[in-house]
Amino acid sequence: MKKETQKINLKGLWLEDYEKIMEDLGEKRFRARQLASWIYSKKATDISQMSDLSRDLRDRLNQIAYIETIKPVKSQISQKDYSEKFLFELSDKEKIESVLMWEGKRVTACISTQVGCPLGCTFCATGKMGFKRNLTTGEITDQAFALSTLPISNLVVMGMGEPLMNYENTLQALRIINNEVGLSLTAGKITVSTAGIPKMIDQLAEENLKVSLAVSLNAPTNEKRNQLMPVNKKYPLEGLLKSAKNFAKKKKKRVTFEYVLMKDVNDSEKDALALSKLVTGIPCKINLIPYNPVPDLPYDRPAEEKIAAFRDYLYPRCPSVTLRRSKGEDIFAACGQLQTQS
Ligand code: SF4
Repeated sequence: MKKETQKINLKGLWLEDYEKIMEDLGEKRFRARQLASWIYSKKATDISQMSDLSRDLRDRLNQIAYIETIKPVKSQISQKDYSEKFLFELSDKEKIESVLMWEGKRVTACISTQVGCPLGCTFCATGKMGFKRNLTTGEITDQAFALSTLPISNLVVMGMGEPLMNYENTLQALRIINNEVGLSLTAGKITVSTAGIPKMIDQLAEENLKVSLAVSLNAPTNEKRNQLMPVNKKYPLEGLLKSAKNFAKKKKKRVTFEYVLMKDVNDSEKDALALSKLVTGIPCKINLIPYNPVPDLPYDRPAEEKIAAFRDYLYPRCPSVTLRRSKGEDIFAACGQLQTQS
């Protein structure tokens, strides 16, 4: 009997992989669809559950493959808005968080793509953790499945990590989530959020999956952005905005610029003016997010009047500006607050 580690994890694979497995077992290729359906539609956790495969085939499959599933270890519900934060344990005991948010009939799942994050944004709890590893396709997909006990209407890839630095696994997971055998979630309801890796944004623009793009901008000048987001030193604003514009043009979709408002850091009228000039000519909307405080980090949320003044200054100068109240702040599930201790 092979050890699990030498076996193939069926979670995260797709039809061409399943076809290869079935062919290697001397079976017909059409069995690949049955396998995909058991893994993603029926959410089988064990090969023995695949009742429309013969006992002999299940036995042979068991010899070479297994199904890995992330393990829910804790969940917390916000008393303010009922959003729910989940802590999952992975097979190597690392932990990740995902969040489920409600707004009327809209149910949004926010999932992670890495354990920790290598980009170290100075205002972010995940950045403070450092980087452990990329998540596998199965681990990314599993979060969406675990959160979909209610039908989810939107998915945002905005949890722990930089999705475009785990590109292949993230994209494969999104294809599975998008597929009818997966969650059947239309690509238009999926948003990938990035701190800004221009060449990967360009690559995403070429994919045949029409997901939306959100760019975590947070500062209107390179000088300020360098301090908040070290990734900007490698990929300054000029290249990032060019790629964002290219994405909007190729996908015929507005790009969302996320702008976390931090007290006395990026919340002045001068910042608002510079921001409006920066995005001129890019089909976009700007999402203002008042900062969610993180213990031990030196940032604060601006006063309500200051937030309103920033929005009012920006609005006539940019065609679409929204002020987003983060969900789950009281359970540290809001934007930039996800963090685990392993
Ligand atoms: S804000 Fe996003 S990219 Fe920056 S450290 Fe946090 S998780 Fe990473």
